[in-house]
Amino acid sequence: MGQAEPDADPARAGGTALQARSWLSRRPAPPSRRPPPAARRSAIRLHGQGSPPVPSAAVRPAMAARLLLRSLRVLSARSATLPPPSARCSHSGAEARLETPSAKKLTDIGIRRIFSSEHDIFRESVRKFFQEEVIPYHEEWEKAGEVSRELWEKAGKQGLLGINIAEKHGGIGGDLLSTAVTWEEQAYSNCTGPGFSLHSDIVMPYIANYGTKEQIEQFIPQMTAGKCIGAIAMTEPGAGSDLQGVRTNAKRSGSDWILNGSKVFITNGWLSDLVIVVAVTNREARSPAHGISLFLVENGMKGFIKGKKLHKMGMKAQDTAELFFEDVRLPASALLGEENKGFYYLMQELPQERLLIADLAISACEFMFEETRNYVRQRKAFGKTVAHIQIYLFIIIYKYTVAVFRYTRRGHRISLQMVVSHHVVAGN
Ligand SMILES: Cc1cc2nc3c(=O)[nH]c(=O)nc-3n(C[C@H](O)[C@H](O)[C@H](O)COP(=O)(O)OP(=O)(O)OC[C@H]3O[C@@H](n4cnc5c(N)ncnc54)[C@H](O)[C@@H]3O)c2cc1C
Repeated sequence: MGQAEPDADPARAGGTALQARSWLSRRPAPPSRRPPPAARRSAIRLHGQGSPPVPSAAVRPAMAARLLLRSLRVLSARSATLPPPSARCSHSGAEARLETPSAKKLTDIGIRRIFSSEHDIFRESVRKFFQEEVIPYHEEWEKAGEVSRELWEKAGKQGLLGINIAEKHGGIGGDLLSTAVTWEEQAYSNCTGPGFSLHSDIVMPYIANYGTKEQIEQFIPQMTAGKCIGAIAMTEPGAGSDLQGVRTNAKRSGSDWILNGSKVFITNGWLSDLVIVVAVTNREARSPAHGISLFLVENGMKGFIKGKKLHKMGMKAQDTAELFFEDVRLPASALLGEENKGFYYLMQELPQERLLIADLAISACEFMFEETRNYVRQRKAFGKTVAHIQIYLFIIIYKYTVAVFRYTRRGHRISLQMVVSHHVVAGN
């Protein structure tokens, strides 16, 4: 293990503090320190079987620069506000792109083989959006406990909402990777305020997948434009992980429904114009999962009351709220999908929510790693930079190990990294 490339990821390669330091400064290794070919092959195997070999340390910076230059050249040649449509999306199988652990910075544009140069161009415009339209105002929004409505409309104008919703439904018609670019760029901006991902990639798919033609036409174009903000209300004081414990209920009254109950921890709850509400519609069902339905509840409906914005430990600019429903009369057209099929729809859609949260979490780690790396390189203590104090070096390597989880695709690689990382942290 210790024979891996001197500037390869030390957590992965199980390297020494000396190797880790050289990786931290990202200087190409002198030729004499290169490992024998067999060791290099084993390091390459860690990047995935059948994957193109990882470029050597000497060519990496040049290649990264070339990639970036190419993206920038295309960017300046055409407007880059819309994501690549799924039909035209060409993934970069043949392109020589670096994976995250080999990149100069984990947040670099132009890396990771799952993306294409079209995604890079789009990423560039999303990064610019967060830098110009979000970061400068975020502190103010944290105090207010909500972002501005104007921001939602700006995001809509720039094509950042409903990216992965089909064009025929009124969405942008981009691929999932393009929408993932917006999740990642928001995490890289360190601004948790705008609940764009919940709106676009959790709420909108329910309407696009289970809505009637009328529901789709009424809501999707408005949501894509940022003029109708979406939320989903599942959680209740007595129903969190155990969703079947929902007590909010809807009873028939002629062709209408009467909705009663309350919800808590609802993202976009305060600003919401449209809320998908999970409610029990059949108490006699053989299990609660067979008696749950989804309803589209609009802001302003009589009996729909927004409680307070919740004060949270973090994500302070995100308007997480309590919602109350007191005899809200809903027309038959407010039922989303089939009666008593709500739990099936939730089971179908929740995996995308988990994927989104995982990608957001890894991207947040990558951002924090880069911030920490910058800081320890600049901050001086005891006559040297903090980066040269061994204990901090180990801590940063540990963080890096978390960050490169993005890259590990198989369980055994993850556990290998954890073992190696503990090794490094323990100073062995
Ligand atoms: C910032 C934020 C935004 C949110 N946004 C929304 C939203 O938009 N819409 C919405 O509907 N909800 C939302 N939620 C709620 C979220 O979905 C719930 O917090 C989540 O489902 C967990 O429920 P709970 O908080 O009631 O925890 P509980 O279910 O009470 O769980 C408490 C702890 O017990 C553990 N636990 C529970 N059951 C088991 C078990 N069987 N075995 C072992 N451990 C168990 C859990 O892992 C957890 O650690 C949000 C929450 C937060 C914090």
